[in-house]
Amino acid sequence: MTNQDLPKLAFIGLGVMGREMALHLAGAGYPLSVFDISSAAADAVVAKGATRCESVAVAVKDAEIAISMLPNTPQVDDVVNRDGVLANMKSGSIFIDMSTISPEATRAMGAALAGQGITMLDAPVSGGPIGAKNAALSIMVGGDRAAFDRAEPVLRVMGTTISHVGAPGAGQTVKLCNQLVCAINIQAVCEALALGRASGVDLSQMRDVLLGGSASSWMLEKLGPAMIAGDAGAGFRIDLMLKDLRLVLEMAGQNDVALPGTSLVTAQYVEARAHGEGSNGNQALFRVYDRMTGQDASRLPVMENQS
Ligand code: NAD
Repeated sequence: MTNQDLPKLAFIGLGVMGREMALHLAGAGYPLSVFDISSAAADAVVAKGATRCESVAVAVKDAEIAISMLPNTPQVDDVVNRDGVLANMKSGSIFIDMSTISPEATRAMGAALAGQGITMLDAPVSGGPIGAKNAALSIMVGGDRAAFDRAEPVLRVMGTTISHVGAPGAGQTVKLCNQLVCAINIQAVCEALALGRASGVDLSQMRDVLLGGSASSWMLEKLGPAMIAGDAGAGFRIDLMLKDLRLVLEMAGQNDVALPGTSLVTAQYVEARAHGEGSNGNQALFRVYDRMTGQDASRLPVMENQS
């Protein structure tokens, strides 16, 4: 049941993450208008009481708070500058972008919106589709503190750790630093498993031992079993991490910071994608090591019949 005492919301981008997040908002009773370029993406949220809109402009025009959860910077820029957020949101409203995009582009959009009296918050998330489904996302927010205070009850419906981390763009900056740590950590786990395998140790036992000591990590715990089993399937996609690593390197260039570790692991993600791993989970980075160590079953030489 919609509670008309709650602020009117709009949600743009109902993909893997956005759909789950919007479902929680509808479930909490918020009046919710939704739009996605794929109409079918909105079906589940509409079934839960949200209003399907034919455009961004229609979705956001009465919203006190509009949220976007889109693939990358160009899509958010289109939604803000071309499709109607800037031209249609009311003065005094808040636009929250929860996608992972460029901090610099975020600041430029925020400045344009501020010119119309609209406050932008950048609020990227960590926790993936499971965190989104369980309303357990970690949300890092940059932008005006008073707008954050107004938006916080809405963010609390989708996440458990909600942190205001600074000025406009700071949320995206923290998120990109998070991604840098994740990617290099995945690479470290791959490298240890590749060396352990080549040396003939039992990898499951090695993982157990490492988890009990100072080499323990979230990636070793969560992705290690799939790497050991050669299961490249679902999870946070290689394509998405590559997109994030490119944003990290772009930000590093703008700030004149050398990131040799990030540069190396980005090249490995490019290699993974070139081998058709883009839709696989991040544990598929281990297949780069399969290929580098000659363990890739599809590339092993086929033995001629000797008889
Ligand atoms: P997704 O591709 O599943 O969903 C994006 C949705 O946006 C799609 O439904 C698409 O149709 C819609 N869309 C694209 N362009 C649009 C436009 N111009 N107007 C309206 N709708 C449009 O992506 P996702 O996995 O939900 O990720 C969204 C964001 O969240 C990305 O920035 C991603 O990096 C970030 N993120 C994803 C994960 C994850 O595990 N998937 C985790 C943390 C953060």
